[in-house]
Amino acid sequence: MAQSFPTPLTQLSEEETLFFSTVRQFAQDKIAPQVSAMDERQEFAAGLVDRLFGLGLMGIEVPEALGGAGGSFFDAVLAVEAISTVDPAVAVLVDVHNTLVVNALRRWATAEQKIRWLPKLASGTVGAYALSEAGSGSDAFALQTLAEATPGGFRLSGRKLWISNAREAGLFIVFATVDRGAGYKGITAFLVEKGTPGLTVGRKEDKLGIRASSTCELILDGCQVGLECVLSDPGKGYKIAIETLNEGRIGIGAQMLGLAEGAWGHAARYAKERKQFGKPIAEFQAVQFALAEMATEIEATRLMVYNAARLKDAGRPYVKEAAMAKLFASCVAERVASQCVEVFGGNGFVRDYPAEKYYRDAKVGKIYEGTSNMQLMTIAKHTLGK
Ligand SMILES: Cc1cc2nc3c(=O)[nH]c(=O)nc-3n(C[C@H](O)[C@H](O)[C@H](O)COP(=O)(O)OP(=O)(O)OC[C@H]3O[C@@H](n4cnc5c(N)ncnc54)[C@H](O)[C@@H]3O)c2cc1C
Repeated sequence: MAQSFPTPLTQLSEEETLFFSTVRQFAQDKIAPQVSAMDERQEFAAGLVDRLFGLGLMGIEVPEALGGAGGSFFDAVLAVEAISTVDPAVAVLVDVHNTLVVNALRRWATAEQKIRWLPKLASGTVGAYALSEAGSGSDAFALQTLAEATPGGFRLSGRKLWISNAREAGLFIVFATVDRGAGYKGITAFLVEKGTPGLTVGRKEDKLGIRASSTCELILDGCQVGLECVLSDPGKGYKIAIETLNEGRIGIGAQMLGLAEGAWGHAARYAKERKQFGKPIAEFQAVQFALAEMATEIEATRLMVYNAARLKDAGRPYVKEAAMAKLFASCVAERVASQCVEVFGGNGFVRDYPAEKYYRDAKVGKIYEGTSNMQLMTIAKHTLGK
């Protein structure tokens, strides 16, 4: 009897292999030469965001009928991983746009909202996701931005903090409460277009890592939006936030995976070139073992990230696996990037070489889309019933 075996988890289909290698080649050819300057200037190179749209990387899961690539969530994860090998700052733009904004619309928007926004999001409008505030980070549903009902809509007032893509964005998903006394039940998601009176992008953060990515304050000062801007129903915002972030953190896992792969590649190349005591340092067993341990941790991360993404695409429960993947990937990225700095020696400590940027970029993996403690709380809940 012919036996059939399940496909190995990390085996990519022909289309996935082609997609991954195309994005990676693009990252190496077009992004790599600009990484250092973008980090220094704290902005993306002119034309780069347009190129991401041109390659179809901003509408990965948008249906083809609406101008997107009609791909899977796993494809989005592959894109984030491939770009992160070269620049995690560019990857976060692609990640937030696809795994949070586009996903929220695909899952929760009305047919009219999808027809209005998905073709734009696939072709030239960057999306941003505005949940956090100065007083509400991990405790996201303590947010204070108010949505007062007005005839025909809502007036939004408040301040959002840490909003990725804010400088580039043409559409913001803004979370506000229709009733501050109602707790999470008042939280409502709004689709707010750039240029809406009362919406201003404020101060840009001067960050440790992913410096080219814009992270800004968002000011809502009596910003009037119509009923057609409500995503799903009033009071459903908490559900939208929880569900999109559950998916989104697999994207952050992919960002940290790609970062670790990128750092490892630089460390391995450098180790083969750099000579001490008359031979390449890669010939010393201590250096080989360091690289071998890093490679093993990266492989484990890949299995976890791919498994979470494949579970999500298969419609199977994935929340625990997503939290574990993000938690683990951010630890591995930090360890691998740190070890990469050491393999480079003194050159790892200066900006002329790529190691230190990976090290700086890795830190945010333990913070955004739920800190490591928040991931552990989710994992504890799913494993201990707590
Ligand atoms: C570069 C960057 C980009 C970002 N992009 C976005 C974005 O696009 N949109 C958006 O809405 N937000 C964004 N954020 C915000 C991010 O999601 C928050 O920073 C994060 O959720 C943590 O919130 P906080 O900074 O308020 O930290 P806090 O919640 O104050 O946490 C501080 C520390 O306390 C710990 N802690 C808090 N509560 C508990 C608890 N109950 N048990 C145990 N430990 C606890 C945390 O784990 C952490 O170590 C971004 C942040 C950064 C840095």
